[in-house]
Amino acid sequence: MYADLKFPPVQLPPEADAMRARVRHFIADELAANRFTPTSDSWCAADPSFSRRCGEAGFIAMTWPKQYGGHERTAFERYVVVEELLAAGAPVAAHWIADRQSGPQILRNGSQRARDTILPGIAAGRTFFAIGMSEPDVGSDLAAVRTRATKVEGGWNVNGRKVWSSGAHLAQYMIALVRTSGSHEDRHKGLTQLIVDLKSPGVAVRPIENLSGAKDFNETVFDDCFVPDDMILGGEGRGWEMVTAELAFERSGPERFMSTMPLFLAALDGMPRTPTAAQEVGRAAAHLTALRAMSMSVAGSLQRGEAPNTEASLVKDVGAVFEQTLPDTIRRCRPTEPYAGEAGSYEAQLAHAVYHAPSFSLRGGTREILRGIIARGLGLR
Ligand SMILES: Cc1cc2nc3c(=O)[nH]c(=O)nc-3n(C[C@H](O)[C@H](O)[C@H](O)COP(=O)(O)OP(=O)(O)OC[C@H]3O[C@@H](n4cnc5c(N)ncnc54)[C@H](O)[C@@H]3O)c2cc1C
Repeated sequence: MYADLKFPPVQLPPEADAMRARVRHFIADELAANRFTPTSDSWCAADPSFSRRCGEAGFIAMTWPKQYGGHERTAFERYVVVEELLAAGAPVAAHWIADRQSGPQILRNGSQRARDTILPGIAAGRTFFAIGMSEPDVGSDLAAVRTRATKVEGGWNVNGRKVWSSGAHLAQYMIALVRTSGSHEDRHKGLTQLIVDLKSPGVAVRPIENLSGAKDFNETVFDDCFVPDDMILGGEGRGWEMVTAELAFERSGPERFMSTMPLFLAALDGMPRTPTAAQEVGRAAAHLTALRAMSMSVAGSLQRGEAPNTEASLVKDVGAVFEQTLPDTIRRCRPTEPYAGEAGSYEAQLAHAVYHAPSFSLRGGTREILRGIIARGLGLR
């Protein structure tokens, strides 16, 4: 018997419309003041000063308690803010990971000191996080991590190496998945998540250049780095359980199908009125609408405390195919040479999207891994 996929339809509440108007106003002001140039994949484009302004405007930590600097809004108000920022191609990367997953993880599983000292800074758009899951030879097979934390008085001594840590060069902290007991053959047992202060002695962050020459992700090396006991998340040995829960948040948001949305919007302006263009643009718009409905449905499930892991993987996989093929689709309809020349132009948007598209089906879990999860969820393996 195959398991059911659950995508209950979601109707945005009226307060989400009011929030959409607010964030559009904010974006219009930013653009009028020339504070950013729209770009595709803007959740990988960091501008700490833009993040601070988002914090001041109340667009970070939107669903968190006021006690920690949050705004006690609904997940759907947060959803519309996120989709508007992505559609505008705004440089949200600096605060993205902290707002989407590190902060919520600390809220649920952090010590009181971690909550008190870290969360208000995230909400203000001043404290940034990196994710330390992947290691050399450990990406898809996350349970095989080798970075090790050994118990010492008052905390843990961390040694090892993480790779592809997006934004670690700007972040004050990393949540690192490490082994605290057993060996890498023990798989899911003995893994723990630690909040590592990246300014601590024994931490080195080195840039890794991507295909376009940008330095967005890093290698992070721990050489006898001390982490206090109260910077463990959720208790020793609960790392795997927490990582699995976190991935549903990481995989289902609008960033998983809207990376090339600014290109789509830029292309529409000068789109020729040909039958091919009408057909391709119509099909892309239909895909986008279906993906948005699926993603909002997962947001609703997460808000209810459910664990829609299969559905989140489906959004990520179908979304990656959509946003990865969009540059080619657009280019067939409105032929041009990708050219990084004039920032914000259609040609530059296209060049940026072409360079970044290969990563869409790698980051956050590769296509093959996601399809394996979906197959398991459907009872096929
Ligand atoms: C832009 C970008 C940003 C990233 N940011 C971060 C970050 O902030 N933090 C972080 O921790 N990581 C980050 N990553 C790493 C990302 O999560 C890994 O690249 C990804 O999980 C794949 O791991 P890998 O690179 O080791 O490839 P591998 O696991 O070696 O996979 C190589 C190929 O083999 C396939 N494969 C592997 N295992 C199987 C299997 N069992 N069955 C079928 N096929 C399989 C994969 O699908 C893939 O095609 C980022 C990656 C990118 C591209």
